[in-house]
Amino acid sequence: MAIPLLPAPRRKTRQVKVGPFVIGGGEPIRVQSMTATDTADAAATISQIRALADAGCEIVRLTVNTPAAAQALPEIRKATAGIPLVADIHFNARLAIEAAPYVDKIRINPGNIGDEENIRAVVERANEFDLPIRVGVNQGSLERDIALKFGGRENGNLISPPEAGYSAEALVESALRNIEILERHGFTRTIISVKSSNVPLMVRAYRLLAEACDYPLHLGVTEAGVKDNSNIKSSIGIGALLLDGIGDTLRVSIAARANDEKVEEVRTGFKILQALGLRRFGIEVISCPTCGRESQGFNTAKIAREIERIHAGRTKPLRVAVMGCIVNGPGEAADADFGVIAAGKAARIYRKGELIESQVPYENVIARLGELIAAVDDES
Ligand code: SF4
Repeated sequence: MAIPLLPAPRRKTRQVKVGPFVIGGGEPIRVQSMTATDTADAAATISQIRALADAGCEIVRLTVNTPAAAQALPEIRKATAGIPLVADIHFNARLAIEAAPYVDKIRINPGNIGDEENIRAVVERANEFDLPIRVGVNQGSLERDIALKFGGRENGNLISPPEAGYSAEALVESALRNIEILERHGFTRTIISVKSSNVPLMVRAYRLLAEACDYPLHLGVTEAGVKDNSNIKSSIGIGALLLDGIGDTLRVSIAARANDEKVEEVRTGFKILQALGLRRFGIEVISCPTCGRESQGFNTAKIAREIERIHAGRTKPLRVAVMGCIVNGPGEAADADFGVIAAGKAARIYRKGELIESQVPYENVIARLGELIAAVDDES
């Protein structure tokens, strides 16, 4: 049996416009994030939206959870013009109606938005402003009848066979039901997510959903925890689906509040896409793990960390390989924009696989590389 090339060809989906971006239909996979501020605090929210956008975030979601949050939207919209915003709505369809003029997309959670009448009201408002809707199904808040059918918890209490727990099928049933409701109202500018904190369950749910419809999918592992845990769960869950060719936009969820922590969601999102060769963005450092062969006086890990730190804010793609000796060095450097390889008592620097400098003293490597990168940036 022939082993297919990976990533698999992208799943063919409908296209849905979100602000300036088209999601789906083979368009670039867009990286999203969400603010952790109180939306009613417009200044803090504007600051975080800008920090996320500066880090490369392409679509920013913010909760619209109270009338005060909805009232802050005009000011937030004005101060963040050009950045696509998504109103995240739970429980209260009225807030979606208030938010619509100031955002580029509405996300609703079908498990808590109420009856079909509420969905119809949101659809009418979305049509009025030509907005798409994301149906964001979450394992933690499914519709009660689906929870009862498939088992699981409601408000923390077991409501259906204790041994069952929700299944991927439950998430998909919720998604398909809501697609059908939207279609009944003639609405097809829909993006879907079926998130869970359980990675195998989430992967299965998205795979099932991908077979059952052709709407673009928003990928994410929800409640993924703090940075390290989230990076692992998100990389496995989102990465597995992207390798299948599934996924049109993504969000990495990290438990964090401060701007400088929140931007890690964006960096990790791009790193996942970068690792799969689906998009290139910012700095990518390839470095060997080092071993007893590392040339004396060269510190691969320190140099790699330092390059990452110096170029952390970069958005233009740049791949740098840092290798501790010449065993694998030239081979790895061949695929990088720049390669730094320890070779005895000094380093060699390669550009796109070609040796451009040798005998660079180890203590000068970072500075010299910085000059070379700046020169290339100036050229382009
Ligand atoms: S490149 Fe050299 S130093 Fe680095 S892990 Fe391989 S053999 Fe060891």
